[in-house]
Amino acid sequence: MLRLDGKVVAEARRAVLKDKIAHFTNTHGRKPGLAVVIVGADPASQVYVKNKVKTTTELGMESSHLELPESTSQADLLKIVAKLNDDPNVDGILVQLPLPKHIDTNTIVEAIHPEKDPDGLTTGNLGLLLAGRKRVAPCTPYGVMKILEHYKISPAGKRVTVVGRSNIVGKPMAQLLLDADATVTIAHSKTKNLRKHTLDADIVVVAAGRPQFLGADDFSPDAIVIDVGIHRNSENKVFGDVRFKELNVQAATPVPGGVGPMTIQMLMENTLTLAEKRSLRRT
Ligand code: NAD
Repeated sequence: MLRLDGKVVAEARRAVLKDKIAHFTNTHGRKPGLAVVIVGADPASQVYVKNKVKTTTELGMESSHLELPESTSQADLLKIVAKLNDDPNVDGILVQLPLPKHIDTNTIVEAIHPEKDPDGLTTGNLGLLLAGRKRVAPCTPYGVMKILEHYKISPAGKRVTVVGRSNIVGKPMAQLLLDADATVTIAHSKTKNLRKHTLDADIVVVAAGRPQFLGADDFSPDAIVIDVGIHRNSENKVFGDVRFKELNVQAATPVPGGVGPMTIQMLMENTLTLAEKRSLRRT
């Protein structure tokens, strides 16, 4: 079974990205900038934010990092987002999710200008994706497409089942695969006989958020299995939606080391894409 290694793919893309960032900086006299905003002290979110800030700087981009207290009001957060929208040196604004319960996530995400939305989660950017005029695609599904591309696995004409229909993963994943000429089935929590849909597929993308719930019996031996799930047990061990060890398919992504490393890579690539698009508009 071929192991689809997201770390290898991310590292290969990272070297190319670093050169592109240096080129942008030389051409425009400033670095592309990513602003990361975190509200509250959720430990997992803090680790994610730390990694994002570190990677941004290592790649040669400008990183600004705002840590706000849990008690921050929605109105104050909206003011901060508005300020970042107006800052010419900020190309991407990332508000780390989840937000505290008293803040409405949709209101905040929608407040980010779509031209500064490297997560691709504003309705403006999701709408463009649906219309076939992509500005940037949500990072995780976009990263899955790049893993397939790296291993020369073309979805064209293939039967693909996406398990999950969230706005962050399932729906944009299905759209990207459709754009790549796959025949896509979207399965979800109300799908009857899920196994029939996974067994029938040439490629299965699993993003159900259910620890280790699919295994060898759920896939055809020729299948390509992409596991998006990330879970941590009490010993902080990371595992996915799929029981990777028991698989005997054509190829599969492990967890950790599969889709995860690609998400941050695509965030960085999307930030540069937004910087380039804005600079083109200004010239
Ligand atoms: P979500 O909870 O928003 O969505 C889960 C989806 O799975 C829902 O659409 C639901 O209908 C479907 N589902 C649930 N149980 C099912 C079942 N038994 N059969 C079929 N479908 C079922 O989750 P999400 O935000 O889309 O994330 C999914 C998983 O991916 C989570 O484990 C999350 O941690 C992980 N994730 C990983 C990355 C990464 O960087 N690798 C990024 C985002 C999310």
